[in-house]
Amino acid sequence: MGYDFSFYMPVNILGGKNALEKNKNIFSSLGQRCLVVTGKSSAEKSGALGDIKKIFDELGIEYEIFNKITENPLTTDCLAGGKAARDMKADFVVGIGGGSPLDAAKAVCVYAANPHIVDDGIYTQSVVHTPLPLVLIGTTAGTGSEVSGVSVLTRTNGRKQSVSGKNYYAEYAVADSKYTYSVPYNTTVSTALDALCHAVESMFSPRADFLSQRFSLMSSKMLFPIIEKMIKENVLPDEAERDTLYNASLYAGFALNKGGTGFPHGMGYALTEDYNVPHGKACAVFLPAYLQEAKKANPSLYNSLFREMGTDFNSLKALIEKFCTFDFSVSEDKAREYEKRWETLKNFKNSPTDFNNHDAYDLIKHIF
Ligand code: NAP
Ligand code: FE
Repeated sequence: MGYDFSFYMPVNILGGKNALEKNKNIFSSLGQRCLVVTGKSSAEKSGALGDIKKIFDELGIEYEIFNKITENPLTTDCLAGGKAARDMKADFVVGIGGGSPLDAAKAVCVYAANPHIVDDGIYTQSVVHTPLPLVLIGTTAGTGSEVSGVSVLTRTNGRKQSVSGKNYYAEYAVADSKYTYSVPYNTTVSTALDALCHAVESMFSPRADFLSQRFSLMSSKMLFPIIEKMIKENVLPDEAERDTLYNASLYAGFALNKGGTGFPHGMGYALTEDYNVPHGKACAVFLPAYLQEAKKANPSLYNSLFREMGTDFNSLKALIEKFCTFDFSVSEDKAREYEKRWETLKNFKNSPTDFNNHDAYDLIKHIF
């Protein structure tokens, strides 16, 4: 792999304390009418919605709030958001929230500008018109959706599926970790584990390169000690630790953009769809198995990762097992159904070894 790398980051990232207030001039350049896409309450709880309303009132920008986005956002709700944006003749969209509202806001921009795309057509139909400009304001430290060209939606058949490419990047990401301070314990740990999965999975992906692996290493080094403290001591991070988690989630997003995700994400989606397991926790439970494959494929990179994190495999595995407990089991029929469904799972090809659907069946049976 050597030192070859390429880096594409079309998002203008405005980061740091009070980044929204400091950069409020960006909004006037985007237009006079805005649809604000949010979840049920996180935009308000985080303080970001209050801040944006104040700025819009000051700048004379008209806005409507579309707060119908649920966790694991539905294509149908994004379609409705697109219609709402068209109906109010929005010039641009602001997405506020964790990965769910941010991913949804990306899709809203595509649906709004492309009325020929309906229902799940976002996965198959061409984007003919440039999506509405988008500003993203993250309120969790996890997905890195702010900086990725990826939107993970739930199809009308109940399956999670991602859609990606140049139409799914925001114009601006306002990255102020203070909006993550209100996230409760379980979501804080789960989202931090999601970021760690992004860093680690992308690091051993066949698509990773020298620079993306540096982002992965930097992110893992920042995340691990805080994750360890949160799980071992059952405590929330302090504000400085929250700042570190948030920045690390963005660096993992840079790495993810290049390497993509491996089998923990592909398999994790099923646990979320069928058992309502939060995304980060659903992926993290498969991370130890992924690391064992990574060790076979690239032992020196694997050693660098653990050196940077300042831990070893068994300690990491024990930590994940302490947090990732479940109150359900996966039946034999269900495990066989997954084995069949995962015959062509593209995340396997994006993993470091030839781990396949039969190995995935064994892993599911072993864990659940
Ligand atoms: P989320 O689903 O956006 O939010 C989880 C919960 O946390 C919700 O109840 C939410 O409330 C609440 N919450 C969010 N911010 C809060 C805050 N500041 N204070 C209090 N509560 C807050 O969680 P997420 O883990 O960030 O996103 C997960 C989604 O992102 C999944 O659909 C996953 O597949 C996707 N994802 C995308 C990418 C990508 O590259 N685009 C990568 C990984 C994962 P509300 O319901 O009120 O919002
Ligand atoms: Fe993820």
